[in-house]
Amino acid sequence: MPILVMKFGGTSVADLERIGNAAQKIAREVERGYDVIVIVSAMSGKTNELVNWVETTSPLFDAREYDAVVSSGENVTAGLMALTLQEMNVPARSWQGWQVPLQTSSAHAAARIEAIPRDNLDQKFAEGMRVAVIAGFQGISAEGRITTLGRGGSDTTAVAFAAAFEAERCDIYTDVDGVYTTDPRITEKARKLDRIALEEMLELASLGAKVLQTRSVELAMRHKVKLRVLSSFEDNDETSGTLVCDEEDIMESNVVSGVAYSRDEAKMTLVSVADRPGIAAAIFGPLAEAGVNVDMIVQNISEEGRTDMTFSCPTNQVARAQDAIEKAKESGEINFHGVVADTEVAKVSVVGIGMRSHAGVAAQMFQALRDENINIKVITTSEIKISVLIDRKYMELAVQALHDAFELEKAG
Ligand code: ASP
Ligand code: MG
Repeated sequence: MPILVMKFGGTSVADLERIGNAAQKIAREVERGYDVIVIVSAMSGKTNELVNWVETTSPLFDAREYDAVVSSGENVTAGLMALTLQEMNVPARSWQGWQVPLQTSSAHAAARIEAIPRDNLDQKFAEGMRVAVIAGFQGISAEGRITTLGRGGSDTTAVAFAAAFEAERCDIYTDVDGVYTTDPRITEKARKLDRIALEEMLELASLGAKVLQTRSVELAMRHKVKLRVLSSFEDNDETSGTLVCDEEDIMESNVVSGVAYSRDEAKMTLVSVADRPGIAAAIFGPLAEAGVNVDMIVQNISEEGRTDMTFSCPTNQVARAQDAIEKAKESGEINFHGVVADTEVAKVSVVGIGMRSHAGVAAQMFQALRDENINIKVITTSEIKISVLIDRKYMELAVQALHDAFELEKAG
């Protein structure tokens, strides 16, 4: 029988009633003739609570025990979902990550999936089981310890199962009815997209849109998994939600498909750095070692052999970045006059595969920001996106202005 993967996020399994509601949707797909692999998250708020317990008990926690604790939320929902389905006379069984086994690297709290052997599930499906309920977000390392895949990791579990079992589709059920042109909380003009290209989704996810974990989109691209994002609170049909698909499957679209933002950005500038070969390596090497996620980088023209180097990173990594830079200075690896940190910035980006074939998108973006008197501090571009760093207090305004300027409320 064809296999369908259905993933239910935390709000979709927040209580017994909602688990029941999700189970109805699963039963309907079984009736349609699918064998279903269901991936569940923990009940909403549960993982946060578990993380908090760990951090309160041990601020510099052992990551193996962190994983032992925070993976447990999914165990509860997996068992409850299997029981709910059984009560509805749907043959179902639950599986924790280690039972499958979903094999991962040993990078606790951020493990990568290495393999999903099919034998166990295939055998059960052959024996008449119709639904395998999998606890998302968790796996087992070669050392035999429980691992987790990083926050939001159930999306990645779902896509990995869809790839391993060659599922017809991977449906991601969540509390919104699809992927929007931007966050509907920022502008009511935000429009649900019927389709979005995987590449655009990847950019949007990594630029701050929270619907899907970035790695799940990467994985879907690599394995050509057809993804659909849809609401667990509505009655859906074949056309519901947003299909995240191959570029070729999209007939017509706007030049810009979406506007993303990320609120907690910081901009740091090393003032008057000696401009010589190896200087970027000497700065960004220690930052990488300290685990700072550097995003944008700008180096200015130099005067008299000295230049300014600016980069952005998440606000909560500023202290760590400063520490790494000061240490590099003390050891004589780099030399500069001062560090200026601006922790009041946000990043706003426009994304669209149409940019590849249209000139002038950047100019149009800058014009729209100028019309609102918003000053741009840093700019970066790639083939299908343009990002700017601006004062955080103008972030909402910038998103609205860009949404208007590119007429995203209208379908392309
Ligand atoms: N429960 C985990 C989290 O909140 C994994 C997930 O829901 O995707 O991060
Ligand atoms: Mg999620």
